[in-house]
Formats: sequence, C-alpha cells, structure tokens
Amino acid sequence: MSKPSPDVYEQGKGMDAHNQVMREIRSRKEASYDPHEPTRVWLDEDNTPGGVKRSLTIILNTGGCRWARAGGCTMCGYVAESVDGGSVSHEALMDQIDVCLEHEDENADEPAELIKIYTSGSFLDEREVGAETRRAIAETFADRDRIVLESLPDFVDREKIGDFTGHGIDTDIAIGLETATDRVRHDCVNKYFDFADFEDACTEAATADAEADDAEAGIKAYLLMKPPFLTESEAVEDMISSIERCADVEGCHTVSMNPCNVQRYTMVDELYFNDGYRPPWLWSVAHVLEETADTDAIVVSDPVGHGSDRGPHNCTECDDLVQKAIKDFDLRQDPSVFDQVSCECELTWETVMERERSFNQPLTR
Ligand code: SF4
Ligand SMILES: [Zn+2]
Repeated sequence: MSKPSPDVYEQGKGMDAHNQVMREIRSRKEASYDPHEPTRVWLDEDNTPGGVKRSLTIILNTGGCRWARAGGCTMCGYVAESVDGGSVSHEALMDQIDVCLEHEDENADEPAELIKIYTSGSFLDEREVGAETRRAIAETFADRDRIVLESLPDFVDREKIGDFTGHGIDTDIAIGLETATDRVRHDCVNKYFDFADFEDACTEAATADAEADDAEAGIKAYLLMKPPFLTESEAVEDMISSIERCADVEGCHTVSMNPCNVQRYTMVDELYFNDGYRPPWLWSVAHVLEETADTDAIVVSDPVGHGSDRGPHNCTECDDLVQKAIKDFDLRQDPSVFDQVSCECELTWETVMERERSFNQPLTR
C-alpha cells in the first residue's frame, strides 16, 4: 500500500481532510502547562514477561505531540499545548522526574520494579527528549528491573535502547500501532505510519536484545479497539487479526488492546454527539481476548471509562463484572475467566455483531 502523503492524497481529501477537521476541533480548547510538572504520575501493578510487577507510570510533559499539532488521530483528545521555545529543557524534564520520585516515595513502601514513561509523543525522539536527558533518566532508574518507554516506530533504534539495557534494565518500547491493517490506521485513525515501520522497530528491539549482556529488550504494541467508521464486527475482526500479526513479529512480546473511549475535542466525539459512534461492547473485548489467548504474546486490555456511555460498555448491569474478568485475564492469561460471566445483554451484542452494517451503525447505543 502506498504511503499517505499530500502527494498521493489529494488536497482536502483523505489524511489532509482528517487533519483539517482535527485541527479545527482541537483549536476549540486552549491549554498551557508548567514544564517543571509531569502531566500525570501514578502507582499500579502490571503483567510483564517477567511476571506481575509493581509499577510507577509517568506521563512526561515534553512539548507535546507534533502529530496532534498537525491535526492528529481521530480519537485522541490530547490538546496540542504550546511551550515557550517549543521544547522542554533538560533541567525541567529532570525536575518532572524528581516530582515523580517524590510521589513514589510518599505513596509506596518500596520503589516500583517497573517504570513506564509516556510523553504523548515519542520518548525516543531527540527533539522531545535529548540524548543527555535520556541517559540521565536511564541512570536514575538503573536500580529498577524494567522500563517501558513510549515511542513512534520511526525513532526506535538499537543504540537508544542500549542506553537502558546497558544498565541492566529490561526495556520495552511501547508503540501506538492501533491496528496492523494499514488502511484502518490511515483512514479511520488518521495515523501516518505503516505496519512495515512497526516491523522495522521490532527488528531494532530484537537486535538491542541480542546485543545486551544482562537485560532484555522488546516491543509492546498498543492497539485501538473500534476506531470510528468500523462496525462492531469489523472492529472485532480487525483486532483479532492485528493481535495475531503482532504476535508473529519477532521482538514483539506484548499486545495491549485499548477499547476506544470518547474523548472531548475529537472527531470521535463529533460522531458520538451526532449518534454516529458507540464505543465497543465489553463483550467484544472479552471475545477478542478469548479468541487470541493462544497467540505467542501476552495480550492485555485495560478498558478506560468502562460502563459509561462514553467508554466501552455493555448494558450497565454487567459492566463491572465483565471488566473484572478482563482484569483477571490480564494478570493470569486464562480465558476460562470469561466462562463465569453472563448477562441477558449478550443476545443484543450477538445481534449487533451479526446485523450491524456501516450504513446503520451504531445499531444500538
Ligand atoms: S494518539 Fe498519539 S500520535 Fe495520535 S495525536 Fe494523540 S498523542 Fe499524537
Ligand atoms: Zn449486560
């Protein structure tokens, strides 16, 4: 498939049109922030190839996602903030890390074994996080077992990963692939890269893994369950095949499937408001996890905003129960957890799966 660019996509059509709409929607909200404070920080636990670990998740403020500024992805409510000078300094980024360490110190008994750093962009893009800062952060977390770093595939390379594995830290790069199907990624999500770029990033990670003496390196793929414009059954089919394709790529050991939720100031929100979008059923999430349980990768899902109209939901009666089964599956990878949940609304979901077509969706809300 050809690469989308203004040359192959006519002006005002395809990705160009998506970007125009997204820029207009995002511009309705202005945001500014303090470059010395992280966007968010929290403690949790996570399933990793090395077992379940206590985690510290950090969302760094790095000056923001360039793609969001261009227009960006149809479901992402991230508002392109502007920072004076367009980037965040080494000192400010290290202040953000200090704030996170203080948060951990105050709220946890011991240091987390797993550190996860997201930037709403690419941690490995040196225009966001320079080499000096990257190495200082690697040094700061040298005593931890494992680190997850978010990046677009373009910026993944073996040397940058080596800054972390060199300290003996197992390193995972989290890539927002969204789907393995290029057509869906380009036209429904409005993300510009190809599956082949993801495969290249996995090769870089596999090489870093082979070069590391006492640490592992790998890729964690983030997929989007039910982008706009797909019916429930198309979304399910797309997820099953995406998980299978990701699991087959050497270097990719984990797939995190994120059900789409309706965020403000997005194209998904516009569609939702006009009765043109329903977030996925939790039954769909459970079904995909069951169908892909025997693939050669850890498959997890953390439905955000479950049970609400703007988040993944069933009938409201059974939402908490199904969500709990999904969380159990995340930790144990045992599909039998889903045998223990049932509800009358499963029949409605099955009917939607069978009868919803793109011209009548959403068939129910
Ligand atoms: S999903 Fe990621 S790449 Fe897309 S606009 Fe949001 S922050 Fe940027
Ligand atoms: Zn129900």
